[in-house]
Amino acid sequence: MSELKVPTCIWCGKTIIPTEYFVKFPCPNCGGVTITRCERCRKFGRPYKCPKCGFVGP
Ligand SMILES: [Zn+2]
Ligand SMILES: [Zn+2]
Repeated sequence: MSELKVPTCIWCGKTIIPTEYFVKFPCPNCGGVTITRCERCRKFGRPYKCPKCGFVGP
């Protein structure tokens, strides 16, 4: 899948604005999903859950 879509925060579902600070990294467990978190969620240390394998991380 290579469709172009606006990234959204995996925790709160907020649309990520490219100019805004955010973190983006592949799932450390399966690597098949890119985890994106907005600055707010990162700051609060909210956990993320991979929608593919269900892996939960800090
Ligand atoms: Zn968020
Ligand atoms: Zn995963």
